[in-house]
Amino acid sequence: MAAVTADQAGAGGLQGLGRAVILLGPPGAGKGTQAQRIAQRYRLPHLSTGDMFRDNINCDTALGRRAKPLMERGELVPDEIVLGMVEDRIAQSDCENGFVFDGFPRTLAQAGDLERICRQRKFGGSIVLHLVVQPELLMRRLTGRRICKSGHIYNIYDRPPKREGICDFDGTELIHRPDDSEAVIRERLLAYDAQTLPLVDYYRSRGLLRSVDAMPDADTVAEAIRKILDGAEAPQ
Ligand code: ADP
Repeated sequence: MAAVTADQAGAGGLQGLGRAVILLGPPGAGKGTQAQRIAQRYRLPHLSTGDMFRDNINCDTALGRRAKPLMERGELVPDEIVLGMVEDRIAQSDCENGFVFDGFPRTLAQAGDLERICRQRKFGGSIVLHLVVQPELLMRRLTGRRICKSGHIYNIYDRPPKREGICDFDGTELIHRPDDSEAVIRERLLAYDAQTLPLVDYYRSRGLLRSVDAMPDADTVAEAIRKILDGAEAPQ
């Protein structure tokens, strides 16, 4: 194997270790933003179930047609649909050594399934990063969120693009997600409290949960996450 450079070594805590990194937190906590950064730094695939559904909707697949009305109402897509999609994705070769999940698992049933998959693959214990944010901040982050087609994320209040409405990276037009309207955000937050919040106790009781203060700016949060991941122990 080629010698590892100092830079790679610094970013190497997770590399090739075979484990899942899971971002857990309410809509607007910054899961997508942080997942992108983790994926880049540790060269792991970034898997966002929300993005997978949006791709299916854009391509008008059967799966997209089932998911669309649920997403528009801010409800979760049924577990069996999510799981089939996730299993197909992580069967691909880029996921052999691990992956970063953003938006999955979102129910206890999904968490159980992921645990089974990781066990089958002889992965080490998952690293669950719980992004903790005051609820009042979430509405501002979500109503102000704008994204580009390839997934770069902005916020018109806190993290605006250099040119209004245009992605800094690829020059394409930014969009406001249809489910980022106030009424749908309220439903998504209720769904989070009812169906996803129990995962905090689930992972805490397994000793896998690391809480991260996700209130500061994205760089500060990324640095806190880097410290956790660089210090992550090799899997048992
Ligand atoms: P956010 O985390 O900001 O709410 P996402 O892009 O992750 O947004 O998800 C958007 C929508 O996609 C959710 O409101 C839900 O309808 C659906 N979805 C995404 N991931 C899952 C999942 N793991 N289980 C069920 N539904 C999901």
